[in-house]
Amino acid sequence: MLDFSFDSPIQQIHSEITCRAGVDLYVLRLDCMHPWVNGNKWFKLKYNLLEAKQKNLTTLLTFGGAYSNHIFATAAAGNLFGFHAIGVIRGEERLPLNPTLSFAVQQGMQLIYLDRQTYRQRHTTELQADLQQRFGEVFIIPEGGSNLNGVRGCMEIVSNWTEFDIICVACGTGTTLAGIVLSLHPGQRAIGFPVLKKGEFLAEEIDSLLTNYLASDLPAPDRASASWELMCDYHAGGYAKVNDELLMFSQQFTQEHGIPLDYVYTAKMFYGVMDLLKQGFFRKGDRLLLVHTGGLQGNRGLGIGG
Ligand SMILES: *Cc1c(COP(=O)(O)O)cnc(C)c1O
Repeated sequence: MLDFSFDSPIQQIHSEITCRAGVDLYVLRLDCMHPWVNGNKWFKLKYNLLEAKQKNLTTLLTFGGAYSNHIFATAAAGNLFGFHAIGVIRGEERLPLNPTLSFAVQQGMQLIYLDRQTYRQRHTTELQADLQQRFGEVFIIPEGGSNLNGVRGCMEIVSNWTEFDIICVACGTGTTLAGIVLSLHPGQRAIGFPVLKKGEFLAEEIDSLLTNYLASDLPAPDRASASWELMCDYHAGGYAKVNDELLMFSQQFTQEHGIPLDYVYTAKMFYGVMDLLKQGFFRKGDRLLLVHTGGLQGNRGLGIGG
């Protein structure tokens, strides 16, 4: 059996902004679970690893960009739990390897590279069959761990934290938000902060993840409907883009509260929440839980701290 008992501490934030808004603000530190196997990427992997084990498959194969948090987490979790792991990386090989990929190799991951055009076929049965033929029977996990097993794992992120009114999380594919939404208790709502431009399109993707999950034979949630919304104005220019305001906010926040943020995801969500607080978006007495989804390894790729 795989032992998955990691704890994530919860930390209260006191600041002039929360004080003025009259809210209680807490951070769920998924970044502190384990030095490498942490964040939402771990929750998205959990049931994928269990399914692989159940099927007696000892090799994981997954996809990602050269700075991917998911590649990093899969390499680490694969090593920790005794799987062989293959990372299919988008684009050409560049040497020396960047910190993300050299960590992956240190963890025993085998890397292969697909040009961008071929990489785009990663979801097709043709390409997956090619890879199965090349590597033997492997357990394929989609990019980002974004399948229904991923949703299932993310249902465990906040399920024990019933005392909060509002759960906030950064969104890339929305898989994490979907899992959180399925685990909400009566009276709770979730707010997602897309880190991509024109994040409105995610609402439809999240809806179909929710529908597909409920139609699947995976364990049903206690409650099928819950309230959630997206705040689409905090992408700071688009995926993996940063601006001076975001940089300054993030550095100041870390200094004040001792919580490091990654620039691709968590900094944008924290910035968004602080901005909404200033605008009086939340009600006095609201108890907010901000999910720190990890991803700190990615800062090294952007070359700005961390
Ligand atoms: C991947 C990632 C997200 C986004 O998760 P989705 O399930 O794709 O929405 C958020 N934060 C961090 C740190 C991530 O690595």
